[in-house]
Amino acid sequence: MIELRNIDVEFGQKDHKFKAVDDVSLTIEKGEVFGIVGPSGAGKSTLVRVINLLQRPTKGQVLIEGEDITKLNRKELRKVRLNIGMIFQHFNLISGSTIAENVAFSLYANNYPKDKIKERVRELLELVHLPEKADAYPANLSGGQKQRVAIARALANNPEILLCDEATSALDLENTEEIVALLKEINEKTNITIVFITHEMEVAKKLFDRIAFMEQGKLKEVTDIYSAFTEPKSEIAKSLVERVLNVNVPEGLTVKEDEELLRLSYTGDDSYDPVISMASKNYDITMDIINGKVDDIHNKPFGMLVVILRGKAEERARALSYIEKNVYKLEKLGGNENE
Ligand code: ADP
Repeated sequence: MIELRNIDVEFGQKDHKFKAVDDVSLTIEKGEVFGIVGPSGAGKSTLVRVINLLQRPTKGQVLIEGEDITKLNRKELRKVRLNIGMIFQHFNLISGSTIAENVAFSLYANNYPKDKIKERVRELLELVHLPEKADAYPANLSGGQKQRVAIARALANNPEILLCDEATSALDLENTEEIVALLKEINEKTNITIVFITHEMEVAKKLFDRIAFMEQGKLKEVTDIYSAFTEPKSEIAKSLVERVLNVNVPEGLTVKEDEELLRLSYTGDDSYDPVISMASKNYDITMDIINGKVDDIHNKPFGMLVVILRGKAEERARALSYIEKNVYKLEKLGGNENE
């Protein structure tokens, strides 16, 4: 439903031009929560602003429901933009207006029937679970509440697309979780397409259906969120994912004779399978857990364990072959290489 074709965005003057977005092509399906991650300066914000033409691309096409909106005149573009809501890192609420007025503002601006505005504002504030704050002012709200108001305002005209530009980056953990949960709920309830850019992988993990990794203006990898964490392919994906999963070997740990250091990954429903205890029971080996974590990626478990396997070479080999069959991924991090 959103299709970007060979998008370039160039900034700068004649002799020192640079591409903030470099030949990006991407399709975002209706109803999905699509995320774009990458380090600061990667071009994420520029790219997301191309979707509603807040930023015109230097080259390329932007298709919404099959229509190339770069070709539209102002009036036609205005109509398309009504269908695309947007929220920002710093909420952008009007401080001198009440919460209800802030939400009503986008209804007035788009000629919503005047006699229905009050009712619609109430409906929107209920959608974001803030009906009791209608008469409060932005200054009296928490960051999470302010962002909820911004969401209500962005959804006022029933858009089919919501663009979120670092929408949780100014929030603490608790408020971030509240906004993530709310966006998920709204996506499920209304099937709105959400395009969310962030540098926060924790948010990606909980919220996105699919994810694009971006670096230096280029798209490096586009995949479903579970695969992004379990099988990252590009260097940028690997480094961002590693930081979140953070199941590494403690510094200074040395492996002795008859020992091997392993990292086991589990996916899906196998995550709680007792592979370690079974291996210890059936083979003449022992296993010590050095580090481990079971993570929840989009409601599906993903576990990682770093273990030391001890035993005679032959028994270790038998145990390894059993373990390999029963885990998602087995990585040898070090040990006796000569066997
Ligand atoms: P991100 O959102 O990934 O942090 P941005 O899209 O904000 O990255 O920026 C990408 C690059 O483009 C950065 O180097 C930034 O300084 C530059 N940039 C963004 N907007 C403009 C602009 N209006 N004029 C010139 N350079 C810009």
